[in-house]
Amino acid sequence: KVTPNDLSAFWMPFTANRQFKQAPRMLVSAKDMHYTSSDGRKIMDGTAGLWCVNAGHCRPKITEAIQNQAAELDYAPAFQMGHPIAFELANRLVDIAPKGMDHVFFTNSGSESVETSLKMALAYHRARGEGSRTRLIGRERGYHGVNFGGISVGGIVSNRKMFGTLLSGVDHMPHTHLPEKNTFTRGVPEHGAELADELERIVTLHDASTIAAVIVEPVAGSTGVLIPPKGYLQRLRAICDKHGILLIFDEVITGFGRLGTPFAADYFGVIPDIMVTAKGVSNGVIPMGAVFVKKEIHDAFMNGPEHMIEFFHGYTYSGNPIASAAALATLETYKDEGLLTRGEELAPYWEDALHSLKDEPHVIDIRNIGLVGAIELEPIAGAPAKRAFQAFVKAFERGALIRTTGDIIALSPPLIISRGQIDELIDHVREVLRMVD
Ligand code: PMP
Repeated sequence: KVTPNDLSAFWMPFTANRQFKQAPRMLVSAKDMHYTSSDGRKIMDGTAGLWCVNAGHCRPKITEAIQNQAAELDYAPAFQMGHPIAFELANRLVDIAPKGMDHVFFTNSGSESVETSLKMALAYHRARGEGSRTRLIGRERGYHGVNFGGISVGGIVSNRKMFGTLLSGVDHMPHTHLPEKNTFTRGVPEHGAELADELERIVTLHDASTIAAVIVEPVAGSTGVLIPPKGYLQRLRAICDKHGILLIFDEVITGFGRLGTPFAADYFGVIPDIMVTAKGVSNGVIPMGAVFVKKEIHDAFMNGPEHMIEFFHGYTYSGNPIASAAALATLETYKDEGLLTRGEELAPYWEDALHSLKDEPHVIDIRNIGLVGAIELEPIAGAPAKRAFQAFVKAFERGALIRTTGDIIALSPPLIISRGQIDELIDHVREVLRMVD
């Protein structure tokens, strides 16, 4: 019999470090901004689940869409067959996508979207007779999911170290987080755009004719909310263009309103060639991912004879009817409630609230963009991540779900949060900072 104390039944203990090896906190229901814990307490969701429940929990429109679709058409093969809901969804997604991104490929998760994007990049170059372009470039502290391509281009040592050489032909650029210059910066930092020039160094080393794509999270989320300096993404775009390298944005976290714009591409005014999404596409309530791709790239790798699929890649559940219906209802909710741009309106309030924690104990940096925030704590010597983890435990006891990554507290509430609830969330954090060792 498996009980909540049987660690092998849960995901977290497999992936997290030692101090997380304990019974998970149990959540039994949710509504809008709150969870209810198994001991009957109301817990404010300060993280939108895992950065995904952007419209808040158990929204009736989304729930009903799932129920109705499950009763109407539960499954249709994603290969040689289709159903209208997936096409409707693709069109609605293209409507809100950055200009030029007019094809959508469905997956079931962020990790799958990442793999799909990397394969698309290789397929594109091969279809154009540039099959030597196979090298992929990621970044230090980048997170791109847990599959082999994603951990290869990713830059998190704990995800990589067990798996030997991973994909060959991968290089990493440095991350852009410069604490010595940008601490307590409000919004986008000023320093570090020149770090994009590292791509030129890699081109010099390997020659552009070997490089397929660069993949970056516009704002690195899972490694602690690392915001690119002003001009960095523009510079990266220009170098990619100069050398015929595709630029992939991993917008699994930043997509669907998190920064106060539909996508980070809109926020920074830089359009990638391929855009990877998941999480918020279906409000996180049902597995779904979507990879957006520019027409010319799509057309290059899909140009086989009519009865053949040139880019042979897909999943049994790609564009699953129930997931598609959930995603359509999610997009309607975002539209009806203006959620894709609500973060823009709330961002100044959010920024002030976060930065009011500046003088609290242990705080060594605060970062914010859109409706994302990070509070970085001074690690306890010899016990990395312990202090932030204590904060997480105490916050949960007080009634707030926050997230930690190393000694960084990350916040990303549902986009429906009110100003009063922002104050409440930040006050929880303030109180726990005063309680930890
Ligand atoms: N890319 C990024 C930027 C992510 O933040 C995540 C998940 N946190 C992923 C990819 C992987 O998504 P999933 O867990 O849905 O596979």
